[in-house]
Parts: sequence; C-alpha cells; structure tokens
Amino acid sequence: MLTPKRIHALPLQLANQIAAGEVIERPASVIKELVENSLDAAATEIEVTIEGSGSQLIQVRDNGFGIHPDDLGLALSRHATSKISSSDQLSQIASLGFRGEALPSISSVSNLSLVSRQHDSECGWLIHHEEDSAAPVAHPPGTTVAVRDLFFNLPARRRFLRSARTEQQQILTTLQRLALSRFDVRFQCDLNGQQKLNLPIAETQAQQLVRVGKICGQAFVKQALVIDQQFDFIDIKGWLGHTETHRPQADQQYFFINGRVIRDRLISQVIRQAYAELIPPGRHPVYVLYMTIPLDRVDVNVHPTKHEVRFRETRLIHGLIHRAVSDELHQQINTKLSPTSSPVEQQIAE
Ligand code: ADP
Ligand code: MG
Repeated sequence: MLTPKRIHALPLQLANQIAAGEVIERPASVIKELVENSLDAAATEIEVTIEGSGSQLIQVRDNGFGIHPDDLGLALSRHATSKISSSDQLSQIASLGFRGEALPSISSVSNLSLVSRQHDSECGWLIHHEEDSAAPVAHPPGTTVAVRDLFFNLPARRRFLRSARTEQQQILTTLQRLALSRFDVRFQCDLNGQQKLNLPIAETQAQQLVRVGKICGQAFVKQALVIDQQFDFIDIKGWLGHTETHRPQADQQYFFINGRVIRDRLISQVIRQAYAELIPPGRHPVYVLYMTIPLDRVDVNVHPTKHEVRFRETRLIHGLIHRAVSDELHQQINTKLSPTSSPVEQQIAE
C-alpha cells in the first residue's frame, strides 16, 4: 500500500551508485572512462592491466599531467571536474570528459585507489575515498587508477555480467576503439599476465596502417581506400573498406568525431546506404573514419556515455557523410583500380 512519505536527500554513496548505473554498465565501461581521463590529461603512454573478467582488477596507468595532491578528494567527488567551469563552455567541449561523474561513480561500486604525481612533484599521492587525506607513495609522473572488485556491493549488476570471455572481449574492443582514435598515444594491455595489445605511437601513415591492421585485420588494410574529403565546414578522413571486404556483422565500423569514439545508429545507416548496391544485401562494410566539425555544431552532452551526438544540422551533416563516402567509392570503382595497386598499397610503399 502506498502511503505518502516525507522527502529526504539520498545518502551520497547511494546517489553515486544510481549515477553509476548510467555510465558503468560493465568492466569495459570502466576502461572507457579511465582511458578517456588519461587522454584528457595529455598522456602519450597508457598501460592497462586486467585480471579475471575485469571484475577482479582493472588498472589504467598513464604518463599524463597528473592531479594536484589537494584535488585528489575532489577527483572522487561528484560533479567536480577540471574540464569546464561555466555553462557557455558546454557548447565548445573539446575534452572527452566534462561531467565529473566517472570517478565517483566507479568508486561507489568498487574498491578504487587513485595515485597521481604531477611532473614537478617529488612523489605520488594516494587516496581511496573522497574524504581521505592523501598519503605519499612512490610513483612515476602520471596517474594510476586501480579498480578492484567491481560491483561487489551491487549483486544485481554482477548477475547481469556475461562470461569472463565476453567481458574480456568487450574490454579489448573498447580499448581498440580508443586506440584508433589517437595514433599519437602508445597503448598496451595485459590480461591475466599475457600481453594482448601493444601499439606503439604511429606517426607516419604507414605506421598508422600497421595499427589499423592489428585491429581491423590485414585483409581490410590491403584493399582499403583512402578517403580525405572536405566540404564546407566538415572534413572526413580515414579508410573505407573495399567493396569486397564486407562482413556478416557490423563489428568493424569505427567512426570518430573530433577525436571522440562515436557509435551512432543513424550515422552507420547513412554509411551503409552509401555502400548500398556495392555490397551484397545483409552484409556490412568495414571502415575507419574521422570526421572533424566545429565544436559548436555538435552536441556531445546527449547521453552520459557520450557515444551519441546531436548535430545542429542533422540532415545536412548526414548528407555530407553520405556524399563523402559515396563519391570516394564511386571514384575508386570507376577508375577500376586492381586490388594490387590500391592507394593504400602505394601509401605503404612510399
Ligand atoms: P571528468 O572527466 O568528467 O572531469 P572524472 O570523474 O572522470 O570527471 O574525473 C574527475 C577529474 O579528475 C577530472 O576532471 C580530472 O581533473 C581528474 N582526473 C581523472 N583522471 C585523471 C588522469 N588520469 N590524469 C589526470 N587527471 C585526472
Ligand atoms: Mg572522465
């Protein structure tokens, strides 16, 4: 029977756990948040360590600019961020994070430790909870976040996790997406003591293609078509799968907007349409595409995970993406390049 009750504020821990429900769905979500924080801290090296399915341990260590010791507690408290400070900045977001929710959310559903050392500091500083005072520890410049026993206090969430293999696969996929977003950063991942990913910084196009090949496979890279198109205020660069490298699943489609990993159903549909008759029905193209658009024409504050975006001129942008992909495909097909002389092969040879 429902009876009227008085209103009270939720305890902090519970409020954080509720917020965590939106952003931290599984171990891979932790990886995404922590690695994005490392990228926002201008790290050039990111090392990930996973134990078990990620529920046992997820650790991300970077060489970024670190956190001031006095701010460590704030880093773990809700709605605290170094990335924005006024509402007009919401329309110009250049960083991956800005909501100040990831660390407090993760911390409310795990045992978290945060160690950070700024470059001009003599040692690192460690905290576990937002109310702790920081303790000095040995640590190289940069930040390490270790997340143990994920969802230990949320049995319902734990039950929804899939097999260790599936969770591990999700973690690697998430990392690979992030690794394709930043060729200027070295990524490494160890899983249960085994090296799963080792991607050195890729400066030249040829080095970038080596990274793409490790993630998307050699078949894709061998025949991939280079795309580099500018229209009005957007540009689209990257690699389009040859019309012969289609797949049964849409599992090798990478799209980035201003360096952010985007998974947007409508954009996927637009690109699929550009391939329309060029690949068999029911098959999916492979692509790695980077779109650049002025920050104020795209809204990333649509969903807490920021995987989806809203454009100020949706139809126009979708039309431009379609045109860029379609033009490129038809141009390449009309010139009837044989697979052995595709632009990518030329690029590697250069
Ligand atoms: P957000 O990224 O939205 O600001 P987070 O909860 O993810 O919120 O992080 C809170 C703050 O902690 C960040 O604004 C940043 O100042 C700091 N921080 C988190 N991770 C790192 C890191 N790896 N290196 C440097 N600073 C970090
Ligand atoms: Mg963040």
